[in-house]
Amino acid sequence: MSRSDRPGCVDDHDAGLSVGELQVELARLRAENGTLVRLTRLQDRFVAMASHEFKTPLTSITSYTEALLAHAHDPHFDRGPQFLGVIRDEAARLLRMVNRILDFSRMEYGSRLLARREVNLAELADETRRTLQATADAKGLTVDLAAPAGLMQAEVDDDLVRQVLVNLLGNAVKFTPRGGAIAVTVTEEPAHVAVSVSDSGPGIPPDEICRIFRAFYRADATGGDQPGTGLGLSIVRHIVNLHGGYVDVRSEAGEGSVFTFGVPKLVHTTADDAPVPVAHPSVLRALTLLLADQAGARAAVLLLAADGGALRPAAWTGIRSEVRLAELVPAPRGDAVADGTTLAADLNLGHDPGGAWYALPVSGGRGWVLLGRRAGAPWTNLDGTPGAVLGRIAAQALRGGADDPGRTVEALRVLLQIKRGGIPTATAEALQMTTDLARTLGLSEADTARLQDAAALHDAGMARVDDEILRGEGDLDWDARDEVDRHVQLGLDLLAPLLGDPATAEIIRHHHERFDGSGHPDNLAGPAIPLGSRILAVVDAWCSLTMERPYRGGLAPVSARREIERCTGTQFDPAVVRAFGKVVGAVAASSPADAAIDEPAKV
Ligand code: ADP
Repeated sequence: MSRSDRPGCVDDHDAGLSVGELQVELARLRAENGTLVRLTRLQDRFVAMASHEFKTPLTSITSYTEALLAHAHDPHFDRGPQFLGVIRDEAARLLRMVNRILDFSRMEYGSRLLARREVNLAELADETRRTLQATADAKGLTVDLAAPAGLMQAEVDDDLVRQVLVNLLGNAVKFTPRGGAIAVTVTEEPAHVAVSVSDSGPGIPPDEICRIFRAFYRADATGGDQPGTGLGLSIVRHIVNLHGGYVDVRSEAGEGSVFTFGVPKLVHTTADDAPVPVAHPSVLRALTLLLADQAGARAAVLLLAADGGALRPAAWTGIRSEVRLAELVPAPRGDAVADGTTLAADLNLGHDPGGAWYALPVSGGRGWVLLGRRAGAPWTNLDGTPGAVLGRIAAQALRGGADDPGRTVEALRVLLQIKRGGIPTATAEALQMTTDLARTLGLSEADTARLQDAAALHDAGMARVDDEILRGEGDLDWDARDEVDRHVQLGLDLLAPLLGDPATAEIIRHHHERFDGSGHPDNLAGPAIPLGSRILAVVDAWCSLTMERPYRGGLAPVSARREIERCTGTQFDPAVVRAFGKVVGAVAASSPADAAIDEPAKV
């Protein structure tokens, strides 16, 4: 059935718009709707957060005022000035909160109004520990703190992150029985500084763990015996999300709990002082963090100086504040991923025993990215396709970021989040299989590049699929399946600023179509489905069949291949499945060599 045959379709002439124009309009409305939904959620959470946070100062103001009234005619009562001082301080705190909330309600994106500054999270964690020490001592709890020497600074709103620490440490103290142990550990990750709070308390049963971050939720097993509102953890998640960070929990009933959150590392930018702004600082920050995450520690974005020829550092992270980067350095030769040792030396980054540097061109000739692996850190092999895809994403982020920095930052954060979630999208193996299939089926270089980008980005919506579904156990019910299916459109909306080429978005949009026309979203059949989508459908099926997902274990390659062949002609294009047979055969024959991807092949 073609689009215009379907009931309910708008006739082109009636609307006075062409199908192409309608599609553009539809995409714009979808994106706008997505933004509005996000903003509404943000506001709802703030109302809940506000009422929770207002309670403490209001309770003190009320009780101190009552005490003053009770002694109003008592000539011997001499604590009046002290009580009035408390009331004044609590009222000032309330005013600060009201102002903060008014700021947030005016904002377009909450994160823009964060008062970010360089913060040492180990010091902030220690300060919080001292605040709660008296309560912990009263229960005979030990509270230990461990942090590495020379910890990188984070770039956060310290008032808000203190609130996160108070809520997590406060819960550990509240729920851990007398005589127990609590440990706070601060660690450095490629793009984040992370804090874990572990306790020897009662733990949280598996069926409750996915709900505890909901507003007002209190787990039956633990929440019932203790005072609380069920808002602390939803506030934690909200604050961490505003920073573009993550929060995780690992716990088992009877085994204690470990809550971990990560917030972005400090990113230096020179964009602000550049004579002509090269890119929006928030976009440069988010891009640099994504790149650092790929590289295992360090990243610098170097843009071509206005007068051409040389490169100027625009943003960098993972490099000590005292290192003064050279202002201008010569660009590496060529236009492919290269050894970055010379570039690093030119920038004054010095010798780094055991480390390694990669130089990655930002496609379109705008500049280069320098990626550095710290000795022993995990490393993604960026040779060939993964590096080229990353270079195109960087270029598109800089382009998209000029038009709409807010949404571009969000898109970059989604990519960072997917990578942490381990959803199989841009693995070197999946990209290699996609590229081999494209070549076998005769796609042009440009179409192959579009398909590689689609393969790397197509699962982005999963980052926003409800936690409860991704963390849930057992089979998905139909509602959950529907939710997972909707991730395609969600991903397209979220990543719109990074999908420069409409053909890339089309490949993603149709990769759930089936060859017999029974797929979605448009019931396209046979050759009407873009060839890229037909290829991606097979690669996607292979990845999801062979990889472990929260709701199902992984199949052995032989069984996965049989399953794909069984669906030839119904779900998959027979020509693509034939090419897939050749490619998988070739991969199996060369797998021992292909498996060695831990170390960079160059440098
Ligand atoms: P509150 O502590 O006010 O109940 P939270 O949102 O902070 O609200 O926590 C939600 C629920 O998660 C708690 O009621 C409790 O059941 C569970 N929980 C949180 N932290 C812990 C912990 N460290 N150990 C055990 N259960 C916890």
